[in-house]
Amino acid sequence: MVTGPRPALRADALLAAIVDSSDDAILSKDLEGTITSWNVSAQRMYGYSAQEMIGRNVSVLLPPDRPAEIAEILRRISSGERILHFETTRVRKNGGLIDVSLSVSPVRDEQGTIVGASTIARDITELKAIDQERQQYTAALERSNRDLESFAYVVSHDLAEPLRMISSFSQLLSEAYDEKPGSDGATYIGYIVEGAARMRALIDDLLTYSRIGTDVLNFAEVDLHDLVNETWLMLRDIVGEASATIDVADLPCVVADPIKMRQVIQNLLTNAVKFRRPDRQPHVRIFGSDGGEEWTVTVEDNGIGIDMRHAARIFDLFQRLHTRSEYPGTGIGLSICQRIVERHGGRIWVESREDAGSRFVLTLPKSPL
Ligand code: ADP
Repeated sequence: MVTGPRPALRADALLAAIVDSSDDAILSKDLEGTITSWNVSAQRMYGYSAQEMIGRNVSVLLPPDRPAEIAEILRRISSGERILHFETTRVRKNGGLIDVSLSVSPVRDEQGTIVGASTIARDITELKAIDQERQQYTAALERSNRDLESFAYVVSHDLAEPLRMISSFSQLLSEAYDEKPGSDGATYIGYIVEGAARMRALIDDLLTYSRIGTDVLNFAEVDLHDLVNETWLMLRDIVGEASATIDVADLPCVVADPIKMRQVIQNLLTNAVKFRRPDRQPHVRIFGSDGGEEWTVTVEDNGIGIDMRHAARIFDLFQRLHTRSEYPGTGIGLSICQRIVERHGGRIWVESREDAGSRFVLTLPKSPL
């Protein structure tokens, strides 16, 4: 057993120990490319032992499609350049290809003359594979989103025309049946009229939704205070029917697409009034705050609230937590809000408790994308 103090390791022995314990391949070569040192990881990575490689030219590692690469690296090294994280491919002893990231530096003699190069090579095969998989996945996702978008657009656009026909003829039929109220025919036609109106609302919303992805955003200064007041006036029918009130405070001027922002505010205010509790007069508070790089806008109501287990779901297309007979709607409004806010580079989320009102919060970057 060793007891006394250990003798200090000599600097070159210490360096050799570090080189040998490295996970990266570390090798050196002269300016012709002849290998002069080769560590354990180089053996593991490339399959050649130090004995096999020292004295041999590094070009044995070159794949056939890159014959000039090492000569080019050595030319740059000779002129004193360092090469960092150069991603390329090398051939292993068994003929297999390996993706590597190379960092190559000049080696100088005591006079400072460049006499060779030292290379640190990292095996990035796995990283590359993960990256490629990620790229494929992203491309597939983008493709499917585009497909879905054009599908939604075509369906909603092409359905609008036959639907108009169904609506107007069923309306005519319903007028013709006016003199027979209560008859089966009048009831059935009533269902058709109602169904057509509902389909119309769905198609209009779907069309709006699918357009947000493709429309060019027209950025301008938008005074949110004015926008909220105008929107509240526009909603006077449901506001009046519900006897709803609103407090508006500290809303900023933002740089955004005014038409799209109006859609967001309109949807959030409509929901705040629509999802009211029967025992409470709806009261909405909308206020802004300065979050540094971004503005935050909060729309708060005293309505029925949301079970937070469904908080993410309500932003998905057609997702509703209530039946149509309880609260009318298509389930697209919040998806539209989310898409618009995200296209502006912001986020939107809900904070709520069932029966305790909801708070919809959105952020908008001060310098949009
Ligand atoms: P719609 O209003 O047409 O149902 P939305 O996408 O706007 O569609 O909303 C989705 C669902 O989220 C609503 O059906 C409702 O269940 C819930 N929700 C939205 N806003 C509120 C709110 N202010 N209070 C309570 N629930 C809400």
